[in-house]
Amino acid sequence: MAPRSSSRSVKRIVLLGAPGVGKGTQAEILSSECRIPHISAGDLLRDEVARKTKLGLQAKAFMDDGKLVPDELVIEMMKPHLSGSFILDGFPRTLEQARELDRIVKLTHVVELTAPTDVLIKRLTGRWTCTKCGGIFHESQHDISKCGKCGGKLYQRDDQKPDVVKKRLATYGELTMPLSAFYKRMKLLKQVESLGAPETVAEKIRHALGGKAC
Ligand SMILES: [Zn+2]
Repeated sequence: MAPRSSSRSVKRIVLLGAPGVGKGTQAEILSSECRIPHISAGDLLRDEVARKTKLGLQAKAFMDDGKLVPDELVIEMMKPHLSGSFILDGFPRTLEQARELDRIVKLTHVVELTAPTDVLIKRLTGRWTCTKCGGIFHESQHDISKCGKCGGKLYQRDDQKPDVVKKRLATYGELTMPLSAFYKRMKLLKQVESLGAPETVAEKIRHALGGKAC
């Protein structure tokens, strides 16, 4: 068992929340404020897939189908990143992953972002990705005829299509309810409603972390 660190400088934060709830955005804000790495499981996975690593190829079949990648694969991918301070986003996603994470390292904070399902569906299905630079644009805020950064053509990733989105949200709900309960029992869980401007939500997270994030 890893010792729970008493050092005030070490922050091992997990951000929980359904796809589309704004974990990535909030992790970025916290990361730049506290100068600690933001580790996005989704970005790591997409990177493995793009580089066609053994792990990436195995994971791809599940992702294309809107399914979660199996625990063993995810843990194998995350392990090298779990030292020092970090903000985890998209991991852990299942009770088994949470238990394994607890065996590897002791967390200092868990923040769960919440939002109504219809809001999440609206946010997720309106996203378009640039074929050239990978930039993501929401149709409610951008002209989607071309990329606002590089002029490239935009398309909807498989995981941005309505059927896949609904399946992802349902899967997320089933798997993570026990996860919140797990962290609640460990007295680590703080819930924050993720509605409104990113800065408004960031302020609520700071409050949940005890007034000051770092
Ligand atoms: Zn672009």
